[in-house]
Amino acid sequence: MIVVLLGPQGSGKGTQADLLEQRLGLIHVASGDVLRAARAGDSELGATVRRYYDAGELVPDEITIQLLLQAIREASDRGGVLLDGFPRTVLQARALDAALSAEGERVGCVVDLTAPLDVVRERLVGRMMCRSEGHIYNTATNPPRVAGICDVDGSELYQRPDDYPEAIAKRLAIWAEENGALEEYYRRSGVLRTVDANRDRREVADELVALLRDGCGAGAEG
Ligand code: AMP
Repeated sequence: MIVVLLGPQGSGKGTQADLLEQRLGLIHVASGDVLRAARAGDSELGATVRRYYDAGELVPDEITIQLLLQAIREASDRGGVLLDGFPRTVLQARALDAALSAEGERVGCVVDLTAPLDVVRERLVGRMMCRSEGHIYNTATNPPRVAGICDVDGSELYQRPDDYPEAIAKRLAIWAEENGALEEYYRRSGVLRTVDANRDRREVADELVALLRDGCGAGAEG
């Protein structure tokens, strides 16, 4: 099954994807991780990604689609896939659908994680990420056991450059601009479900697990 998580930055897509990976064995593909890997490259592609990424702007569709479809292909050879951060635009959603349908696949469930913007802004300001594998913490709501160190792999925690206040404001504005059309796109295809993400992350994960075990639920909006 291919599952897409929608929601603003800070709604908990990455955290939930990690929990679902553990509980359902889905493979987490995060566009941010894929683009951060490309950003680190010493090539023209790396320099282009760096320019957009560091300004908190969307990386051009052409580059994002190519890199993400490749990552999704590799992951789906190993099992069900959970997409976090991709698609982010209707053009990306169409490209994903076209690529999947060429392989007799389709997006099985799209979950919109909803949370008020002032809540997600707070979460982003406190967010810390580990250098080694991108595990996510929050200094206020989900601190590591030892300050500055990842509980899982012991690597150093850092604040992402795009989690500085100016970049956060820009990213949330871009999200608000793109998200309505994307939700409408998936609502029309009947796979859009909504989950309240402004709760304890374990409660949110329980609801997501139940929804996905139920084949994306029958009774929600469609
Ligand atoms: P995220 O970790 O999802 O907040 O993404 C971090 C940054 O990666 C964004 O601010 C964008 O620069 C870039 N990015 C992530 N996903 C996408 C996407 N689907 N399309 C374009 N740019 C993206």
